[in-house]
Amino acid sequence: MPHALRKRVLVTGGAGFLGSHLCERLLADGCEVLCVDNFFTGRRENIAHLLSEPFFEMLRHDVTFPLYVEVDEIYNLACPASPVHYQFDPVQTTKTSVHGAINMLGLAKRVKAKILQASTSEVYGDPELHPQPESYRGSVNPVGPRACYDEGKRCAETLFFDYYRQHGLNIRVARIFNTYGPRMLPNDGRVVSNFIVQALKGEDITVYGDGSQTRSFCYVDDLIDGLVRLMNAPDDVTGPVNIGNPREMTIRELAERVIDMVGSRSRVVLLPLPQDDPLQRRPDITLAGKALGWKPTVELETGLQSTVAYFRDLLAQQTEDTPA
Ligand code: NAD
Ligand code: UDP
Ligand code: UDP
Repeated sequence: MPHALRKRVLVTGGAGFLGSHLCERLLADGCEVLCVDNFFTGRRENIAHLLSEPFFEMLRHDVTFPLYVEVDEIYNLACPASPVHYQFDPVQTTKTSVHGAINMLGLAKRVKAKILQASTSEVYGDPELHPQPESYRGSVNPVGPRACYDEGKRCAETLFFDYYRQHGLNIRVARIFNTYGPRMLPNDGRVVSNFIVQALKGEDITVYGDGSQTRSFCYVDDLIDGLVRLMNAPDDVTGPVNIGNPREMTIRELAERVIDMVGSRSRVVLLPLPQDDPLQRRPDITLAGKALGWKPTVELETGLQSTVAYFRDLLAQQTEDTPA
């Protein structure tokens, strides 16, 4: 493809779990990709295989500072996503969502780029309505330990819609539900990576609370396909659109499935439930079906198999790298 015809796409948070898969997908689609990341939770290894690609570029940069580049589309994914990481420096988390959104929206406005925000099911907080449609306004504790993430993302959505109304920007807002797959960090505290790593190491599986709280887990390939479809949808499809897998399960059930799949001797231990931990979560994906023709296709068992394989390799590599 001639250089001038390639779409130039900026992916913030491109060295992270979802961002690195998105960069790969966009390169495969023939785009020129600029990956921006400050490596807070991203890893060089996630994108190392892309550095030799002629249409891939990596820039170390924090989105809370202005960024002047020329692009056609922006996927704004920069933000730590795991509670352990987003609560490590909560002020920086809110800054990343809010100042990051302002800077990326300002950039989109200057260069007339289309811009997509990676929002989250956390905007629904601990939901009283189940499953959650986009019209539900949520139940978030604004002063709790999760607020830096939830309220930061809610404010980012507000900014997106105000730039849309006030400046006519071409915006997209995806509300992403729990997603898992290869390249999650082994120590990032999210439930799927925690359980798989614990099962592989034969350690106790740490279920918080009594494990009756529910989540609905989407495999990363499905999620990325949803984001790309949303970006490429007609201009009146601004969202917010839920993207997630409606198959809901208890955390206890997830623990049992992982133990079975790994063939582990790990046992389940119950630890205290963190404050404000949502009791239930399942996306209503009617809108994604209608507006994007999207629905998830990867079964949990298949997705877990490839995630287990990824962590098995990673742990084996770490053992090899450890000096005797
Ligand atoms: P991740 O932590 O793997 O990726 C986030 C990336 O953003 C990392 O590479 C990190 O280094 C980078 N980053 C953080 N702060 C930054 C800053 N100030 N400037 C530049 N880069 C910065 O998490 P992920 O799971 O890949 O999540 C990606 C996006 O999707 C996030 O915005 C997250 O809120 C959203 N999301 C993810 C999920 C999920 O289940 N994975 C669910 C809902 C929403
Ligand atoms: N900005 C940026 N890159 C650009 C243009 C703007 O990072 O190419 C940032 C800049 O920090 C600015 C913010 O985006 O403050 C919001 O831009 P906007 O034009 O909406 O408002 P301004 O603050 O310039 O009045
Ligand atoms: N969880 C758990 N054990 C763990 C990590 C998480 O039981 O080792 C629970 C957590 O309390 C929550 C659910 O699993 O109820 C999902 O947690 P995660 O941090 O992955 O995502 P989020 O709470 O942001 O949906």
